[in-house]
Amino acid sequence: MPFVPDTETRRVALVTGASRGIGHAIATALARDGFSVCVNCSSEKGLPAAEAFAAELAETYGVEAAACAADVSSEEQVDALIAFTIERFGRLDVLVNNAGITRDGSLLRMSAEDFDRVISVNLKSAFLTSRRACKIMMKQRWGRIINMASIVGVVGNAGQANYAASKAGVIGLTKTIAREFGARNVTANAIAPGFIATDMTAELPEKMLKGMSERIALKRMGTAEEVADLAAFLASDRASYITGQVIGIDGGMSL
Ligand code: NAP
Repeated sequence: MPFVPDTETRRVALVTGASRGIGHAIATALARDGFSVCVNCSSEKGLPAAEAFAAELAETYGVEAAACAADVSSEEQVDALIAFTIERFGRLDVLVNNAGITRDGSLLRMSAEDFDRVISVNLKSAFLTSRRACKIMMKQRWGRIINMASIVGVVGNAGQANYAASKAGVIGLTKTIAREFGARNVTANAIAPGFIATDMTAELPEKMLKGMSERIALKRMGTAEEVADLAAFLASDRASYITGQVIGIDGGMSL
């Protein structure tokens, strides 16, 4: 049965890395579907824009929305982010671990610093947020953890040892959360996008973008909105019996 929100029971979603790209689209899709939304950006510098985005969501969809700056690789900042969400909204029902970065390079040239940073932002962050969120969700006996993995976390990718390892780690973390919290009606799933048009992929050379698209069955990159609709489905009651899964959304790239 679809979740019918009202002001008493409106569910609350926290989306990390929601200032741009896929996270921005997910926050929009969840507000559209009646969730109150906490929009996270990485630093105080981006906070005014994130606050304007939250105000726009509130006005457009009639939900509550607020923004909070936090570097999700920092334990202290994640704890402050969760505390802000609870203080502002009174609950937390859906956690979308979306924040992510790349620092690409061949294995032989990759610095340990670049390896650590990508693991911290993409993987450790999901551990830090989920650890706090699951405690809240298990008491409610309802919760959704949605982790942004990547198809490269399944198949690997030359030049992305750090990124692929972080996304493979996200998949292991997701499956473990699903096992640990299933009895409390908390589900955990990973989304594995292929090649999506955002700032992250805009950095790639035009020739490479064209070559990649040729290898996709649907012959195009995906959009952030297409990924957001999958996240919104996983956040809904319609996805109540799906947990521990890695759901590909790649236009047939991995076929
Ligand atoms: P994007 O356009 O580069 O946006 C990244 C987002 O993450 C921004 O909102 C950024 O915030 C935030 N972020 C970065 N570091 C952060 C930190 N330390 N703390 C908090 N937020 C941080 O990337 P995207 O393409 O939308 O990617 C979103 C997710 O999808 C990532 O996990 C990525 O790995 C995954 N993904 C993307 C693709 C693709 O093809 N685009 C494919 C597979 C998986 P600021 O604006 O404040 O910097």
